Amino acid sequence: MSLQPETFKSVVKLAAERVIASAPELTSLDQAIGDGDHGFNMKRGFEAVLGKLDAISEQPFDEALKTIGKTLVMTVGGASGPLYGSFFLAAGEALSHDKHLPEDIADVFGSGVNAVSARGRSHVGEKTMLDVLVPVLETLKNAAGHPDLIARVSTTAAEAVERTAPMRATKGRASFLGPRSVGHIDPGARSSCILVQAVCASLEGKQ
Ligand code: ADP
Ligand code: MG
Repeated sequence: MSLQPETFKSVVKLAAERVIASAPELTSLDQAIGDGDHGFNMKRGFEAVLGKLDAISEQPFDEALKTIGKTLVMTVGGASGPLYGSFFLAAGEALSHDKHLPEDIADVFGSGVNAVSARGRSHVGEKTMLDVLVPVLETLKNAAGHPDLIARVSTTAAEAVERTAPMRATKGRASFLGPRSVGHIDPGARSSCILVQAVCASLEGKQ
């Protein structure tokens, strides 16, 4: 069964709404180990995505993902704007090359993860959004075709975000704190978790 445009639209809508609603939480996480702008950055970006939702949902999925990426690059700012922007641009690009949703989700998501890693010169274990995105990718690969895939992805994201707390940041602004970055959840890991869980919730039809 192929992904339907209405499903794609409701996924994007719920993801944007949840990120916007989580701005205060993301702000307070970024106040602890960054400069406190992550909530505002993400809210501004996803409000811009919501504002274009009708146009986005009329595009083919590859173009729609690229539009989301370009919108985030232009509006989010901070380190996370170009990183999330790269994720969606690369995912859209992957979808342009004979990939299809939902069956190629691991390849498409993996292209986004690789783009974040390349752009950020970062890897798993450095206390960034990659510490959620990479485990989610592993679950997408390992549990592909499993009837519980969506629930497993959602649980993976929730567990992965908690695992960022004991990590010491070696990338991004939090790395300036050195050992004082330990003991706090990474804000970008949390926003990635919110996005992933929103996609899961929307696909499972429970909001
Ligand atoms: P800034 O750090 O410029 O204020 P934000 O507060 O919007 O930008 O985003 C911070 C988040 O961006 C971090 O919590 C982290 O998850 C992510 N991040 C920062 N640098 C990198 C990097 N090099 N690779 C991957 N993610 C990163
Ligand atoms: Mg910040």
